[in-house]
Amino acid sequence: MELVALPALSDNYIWLLHDGETGHTAVVDPGDGDAALRGAAERGWTIDQVLITHWHPDHTAGIPRVVEATGAPVWGPEDERSRFAGLDHGLREGDQVEVGTAVAEVWEVPGHTLGHIAFILHEQQIALVGDTLFAMGCGRLFEGTPEQMHGSLQRLATLPGETLAYPAHEYTVSNARFAAHVQPDNSAVTARLRHVEQLREGGAITLPTSIAEELATNPFMRAGSAGEFASLRQAKDSYR
Ligand SMILES: [Zn+2]
Repeated sequence: MELVALPALSDNYIWLLHDGETGHTAVVDPGDGDAALRGAAERGWTIDQVLITHWHPDHTAGIPRVVEATGAPVWGPEDERSRFAGLDHGLREGDQVEVGTAVAEVWEVPGHTLGHIAFILHEQQIALVGDTLFAMGCGRLFEGTPEQMHGSLQRLATLPGETLAYPAHEYTVSNARFAAHVQPDNSAVTARLRHVEQLREGGAITLPTSIAEELATNPFMRAGSAGEFASLRQAKDSYR
């Protein structure tokens, strides 16, 4: 399984998953349909599946364009069916979706939105996490409670450490500065801050990240309780 990040809008990544064996290509959260189609075409791939993690327009606005061009079926959260256009197959906790020769398990990970889902490809050790988990950070709580988001992050933390997570935004440097601010004695955080600053200065992507790296450097994933998580999230929302 090959994964490619397509930068889109101001700081989104649209992920393409390409299965070389079958030629199957899935697109995750196409906030910009033309960017998704162009990214696939440049590689000689044809999108034949759309996967959606949550309803926000920067993840779903390009669905009609992709479907118009490819006829690809759209899989996404059943609980958010009324919030965006074009959902063919509504998904719930524990559902399984074939992605080429791989199988993705659906986890409900509420917090950023109430119906947010993640696609977990256990065998390939891939987690498509949308706006739930970011490198060294997590999504804002637009709809859910701190308890819900804390629970969602704790659940992702149970994945094997080598699992690679593919978030939908390039927020890593800002997250790393906040992490260094709240965990000044964590040398793994300090080292990673330097590393991701260098990557961004060179225009490189900082993703994917691994669950092990997040357990070492992500203050939100390391929070021991929902209360600790809530105060961190509040502090980050007003941190600049
Ligand atoms: Zn979002």
